Amino acid sequence: MLVDPFQRHVTYVRISVTDRCDFRCAYCMAEHMTFLPKKELLSLEELDRLATAFVELGVRKIRLTGGEPLVRRNVLWLIERIGRHVQAGGLDELTITTNGSQLARVAGDLVAAGVRRINVSLDTLDAQKFKAITRWGDFYKVMDGIRAAKAAGLHVKLNAVALKGVNEDEFDRMIGWCGEEGFDLTLIETMPLGEIDEDRTEQYLPLSRVRADLAKRWTLTDIPYSTGGPARYVRVEETGGRLGFITPLTHNFCESCNRVRVTCTGTMYMCLGQEDAADLRTALRASEGNAALVAAIRDGIARKPKGHDFVIDRRRRAPALARHMSVTGG
Ligand code: SAM
Ligand code: SF4
Repeated sequence: MLVDPFQRHVTYVRISVTDRCDFRCAYCMAEHMTFLPKKELLSLEELDRLATAFVELGVRKIRLTGGEPLVRRNVLWLIERIGRHVQAGGLDELTITTNGSQLARVAGDLVAAGVRRINVSLDTLDAQKFKAITRWGDFYKVMDGIRAAKAAGLHVKLNAVALKGVNEDEFDRMIGWCGEEGFDLTLIETMPLGEIDEDRTEQYLPLSRVRADLAKRWTLTDIPYSTGGPARYVRVEETGGRLGFITPLTHNFCESCNRVRVTCTGTMYMCLGQEDAADLRTALRASEGNAALVAAIRDGIARKPKGHDFVIDRRRRAPALARHMSVTGG
């Protein structure tokens, strides 16, 4: 078992399989990004070894993310490999966070590999706004992907970053649509990660305010539902759908943190909001056996910090951390 200094059990690992992406969401990336040279990346075989080592250390849930995980070449091979742990009972869940651009092509393969639920990031239902937010994304392709995922039997949760003056007028419509389609919806506060081309203080929308506003029109009942992540859920009584709030800024959820993140170069971040990290790549490459790797993982977990201290305000315009969300994986 992996237990940190604050007695939190680490049972959830998010693995970023690439830092590259076919979109350039304004809150996530600058339009012109420098990505890692491909040789820096862990191979798919190394990622498989890494995932297996975590499963053997008691991890029950793995999420693949990025960048855009589904643009990594042959990623389905990795998904099948990790999916075997689900089939064998060593892992409760293998899931993915995706922008949806490739879903129409791979939804069936994901199901065959043992994936049951996916998160699709979708901030708006308006094609023009979608273009403005994602810069390079194709709204209709993503909608086709979401439909394909539903048709293939995947449970779909939509993630929307709440952006002041951009999509705040759309939450009612999104709640209604998700209710009709049977999708869960989670709203996320913007986090101060990485240099982007815009000013984050202009985009930040506290979800405490959004929730209070939604409660004027919808009956929101707190429910104890959890997917092992940081979202707090309510049931929207009018639709029967679930609505989650991820509030790293207005309500810090670090006390129940059960996860670590590994980048595509094998760097393990014990906290999304802190710099300290453990190098797992050197340990992975040191030998074919996993002893050095397991030692490096345990070493990192022993340094897992108590929490992050994100702040977005006018005095602190610089990002809390230089690395982008696409590096650590959302
Ligand atoms: N490309 C995939 C996607 O968009 O779903 C997976 C990676 S993306 C980095 C994961 C999630 O992080 C997305 O839901 C995205 O909206 C969110 N995200 C990116 N930058 C963020 C930021 N600065 N604050 C809050 N959420 C962010
Ligand atoms: Fe790409 Fe996801 Fe970042 Fe958008 S949020 S730029 S889709 S990694």
